[in-house]
Amino acid sequence: MSFRYQGKVPIPPPNAERYTTVCQFCNTACGYDVYVWPADEEGGLQPGEHGIVYNLKDQVYNRVLTPQTTDFTKLGPLTAYQGIPWISEAMVVRTVRRGWSRGRGTGEWREVYVAQIPSPECPINMGNHSIRGGTNGERNWSPWTVAGARRLKRPMVRFGGRLEPVSWDYAIDLVARVVKGVIDKWGVDNPKWGKEGHAVFASRMDHGGGGGGGMIENTAAGLFFFYGVRTAFARIHNRPFFGPEGPAIVDAGPGAMNNSLLDLRLADVIIYWGANPYTTGTVMFTQHALDNLRGRTADEKKNWFAGEPVVDTYMIIVDPRKTETVQVAETVAPDRVLHLAPEPGTDIVLANAIARVIYERYKDTVDKILAVYRQAAQSGFKWDENAWQLYLEEALEINTKTLDQYLAEAESITGVPRSDIEKAAEIIGAPKQGGAPKRVWLMYEKGVIWNQNYRSIYAVVDLCIMAGAVRGIPGTGCQRQGGHQEGYAGPAPPPPPWTTERHHVSPWNFAKEKGIQLNTYDDYKNLMESWYNEVYTEGYYKTRWPIGDRYMPTIDFRLEDGEGKVLWVHDMDTYKLGPAAQRLKAAVSDRSWRVTRYVFAEAFAAIGGKDSEPQYDVNVTEIPVITGPSSEEYAAKVLEALEKTGGIFVVVQDIYPTFMMEDAHVVFPAAFNNGEVPDVRMSVHERRFRIADAWLDPPGEAKPDWWIYATVAKRIVELYEAEGRGNDPVAQRFRAAFQPIWDAMDKNANDPSVEVENEIFKTYIANADETYAKLGVDWEVQFWTPAFKNLDLNILRKFRTVGVILPLTEVNVNPDGTVEARGVVNVMEPALNPQYREEVVVVRPDGTIERSIEMAPSEKAKSVAASTLRAWPALWLGYPPYVEDVRGRYKYWVINGRYNEIWQSGYADPNSEVVIKRWPYAFVQINPADAQAEGLENGDIVVVYNDNGSVPAVVWISDAVKQGHIFLIMAHPYAVAANAVTTPSVEPVAQSPDYKLTKADLLKVGTLPSEVKALLTFKDINI
Ligand code: SF4
Repeated sequence: MSFRYQGKVPIPPPNAERYTTVCQFCNTACGYDVYVWPADEEGGLQPGEHGIVYNLKDQVYNRVLTPQTTDFTKLGPLTAYQGIPWISEAMVVRTVRRGWSRGRGTGEWREVYVAQIPSPECPINMGNHSIRGGTNGERNWSPWTVAGARRLKRPMVRFGGRLEPVSWDYAIDLVARVVKGVIDKWGVDNPKWGKEGHAVFASRMDHGGGGGGGMIENTAAGLFFFYGVRTAFARIHNRPFFGPEGPAIVDAGPGAMNNSLLDLRLADVIIYWGANPYTTGTVMFTQHALDNLRGRTADEKKNWFAGEPVVDTYMIIVDPRKTETVQVAETVAPDRVLHLAPEPGTDIVLANAIARVIYERYKDTVDKILAVYRQAAQSGFKWDENAWQLYLEEALEINTKTLDQYLAEAESITGVPRSDIEKAAEIIGAPKQGGAPKRVWLMYEKGVIWNQNYRSIYAVVDLCIMAGAVRGIPGTGCQRQGGHQEGYAGPAPPPPPWTTERHHVSPWNFAKEKGIQLNTYDDYKNLMESWYNEVYTEGYYKTRWPIGDRYMPTIDFRLEDGEGKVLWVHDMDTYKLGPAAQRLKAAVSDRSWRVTRYVFAEAFAAIGGKDSEPQYDVNVTEIPVITGPSSEEYAAKVLEALEKTGGIFVVVQDIYPTFMMEDAHVVFPAAFNNGEVPDVRMSVHERRFRIADAWLDPPGEAKPDWWIYATVAKRIVELYEAEGRGNDPVAQRFRAAFQPIWDAMDKNANDPSVEVENEIFKTYIANADETYAKLGVDWEVQFWTPAFKNLDLNILRKFRTVGVILPLTEVNVNPDGTVEARGVVNVMEPALNPQYREEVVVVRPDGTIERSIEMAPSEKAKSVAASTLRAWPALWLGYPPYVEDVRGRYKYWVINGRYNEIWQSGYADPNSEVVIKRWPYAFVQINPADAQAEGLENGDIVVVYNDNGSVPAVVWISDAVKQGHIFLIMAHPYAVAANAVTTPSVEPVAQSPDYKLTKADLLKVGTLPSEVKALLTFKDINI
């Protein structure tokens, strides 16, 4: 049961079990402590009477928490920071669990309470939480809550039009037979690997949080698809290919995650570019950015910048909409916030214009910053002088246009007044008193990622280089915000069958491919001209096919073209989160139902009829499960259908029902990574790496994702062996990849103290170098260093919500039980300076955690530091062809994005009565002048439509959006929302969708009934 509206929550008693985890939602990755205890017990308010105990000495933020601190008789506003957290009704749930041993339930079910409380020990949130994270607790499943009722609990298979429960054996056998049959029949012969299963398409999450797992889950998925099946045809949740979301910042040198929240606290200038962190990375913004903007981090600055003045912090926010981030920041510091609102798609021009002004007007600042890069180049750092010169001449046009001409053009393209461009340049470029350049920190996200990705991100990174945001000193940084946490690990995906390489077509890869030497400035110019010509002018702008597809297939286009025989969708809902989602749904649905019609019209039409008793087995679970036709017969018919109909077999693996289940043939119910299966993942903002532990049995028959992959893999091998083909290369691959996991499962069956997840961690993550060397395949474990070899899940458990920061330079486990981890705070620092900040976390045998920062010689971290800094001219080429086509035909730019309470696709939001009451419908914001012209009022219902599709939404009139723009929520629990109309355009290099470059019209179709309208508010968010 939930504790909503009860006015009282139980407190864990002193003997409550304690686990640590990471919020299931956003990129910030706040730490949470979890307590589980029998439902007939309760703790008291004073220290010693309850189980909430902290033990922390954090020298970095000057915080000490002791077991005596947590005195709930002293509970007050914001006391979580001092170790007395407010435990809200949404943080506790009453549920059931079996006797618990090493992460697995056995024996009798008992009623327990679970409290999931924001952790005061965690250096990210320090006890704070957002409106999303505050509901983590009530999203643990319970037989008495909506969260429990909605969970997928049993494997299901489609019989005729219906999905019916079956046993795991049935579902596993069916899928194994179809996957094996597809590889055997449509596999591509590779002399090294044998048959490769490129007809199996995978659609999967790649990261941590948000129901998407972490390194353990990703490892299992990677072993299955990329090693066992060997398919190059995979996609990742919001993008139609499998690859990095922001390759430009990797090519430029710093990488997408390079600094820390400490740097955000120390910055003189904070820039959010195409990011809306108040609603999408809330605690990072409220706890760290706003503290800095308010001046609350001045003492920390004095500590770190001896001899440099502490100046008032400025914030620049680039977003076409006056977001909640802008509104909150302006409330805090009205005179020190600059909001730049460019027309969609013109960020390249705006970033270049600001950089041009800095270059012209603040030469001393620029010279001091460039001197840092040039100095480092004397000792091996690769500062690319030719690329820098090319950027100045070709992107900033320093020799061909006057500043006046340049800014006049920029103003006309971006719609941002010249004076604001100059103001931004001054905030960034004007030195501090005494001449020191300001410490500039920039974070970008979907505003540039989903808008001509490669060039937009490069333009922003070029600006970072100019502004010194990547010069590796405290208070600087230039990176992405992230949508989720990170936790990628696994074997590298294979290249598509027509090539031997897999990469994006960066200028640098292009130069290699074409044999262009890069020795002189003219070589660089030649590269620039050929790259722009082949990729854009003669490429995407003519063919509308991304050139990157040659090396990383664009799956959605191919599914629509009839490619693929199996589509396995893991933890995502492409019908909500894919570009032009209605088109994709139409194509996949048609192909899926061709298989269903063939299988059932021809052979199994009688299922469920009056003679159907033999088709059901009531012994497997408490409800009858279908057993006939046999999985073997079903699979044989599917393979026939795939041959004859052009159809596709769809497998969905998830925790809640998704829109994609409408077309699924098989549904695998998965365990949730919020407490039902342990995994490891990290925050995007400072690579803080922690265990997200398990404390609850999954509901019904739900199983961990690794179990599902390992069990299907095992069945595939058995099928080969049954045919006398146990040495087939495909069987050998699955065996080699999964044998350590099967062994661990066997050991666990005999001895529950063997934790399978820990064995997976040790084999494929901690010792990834050795394991994948044996498998003979490239691999990735994010920020892996040899220090990982000293980690396992039990050691990570000791670091609780403090965790360790990656990349690690050392992990030491001492005989007295003390554990110590050291990691790099800012990866630009050891690259450009003789010393760097190293975070040291020590866990004492009594459980006390000590966190500090020490300076270490850069030599120690050279192998994990950035090694290159390379600008590249990002040129404005006008709008991509799909966008240009509709630009004149539709009135409104569709600004789209997330909204605070609604997470991701909204998959978990129907569990929360509060969220559903607040946002019962998808909404569209429209400017008052446009609303008047359209004859619209708050609460009217419109259809937003264009060539790609249409979606109904409720009107919310607000001047947060400019005239000619509307803001449509990206996804809603009950609607596809923005992706019904987003463009199919993808950027040709990185292949990321141009979601932000969509235009549409509106049509009023009605209005909400007055009694419903009365339940909603259409007030503007003026905070
Ligand atoms: S800010 Fe993000 S990580 Fe932190 S509690 Fe909120 S949703 Fe969770």
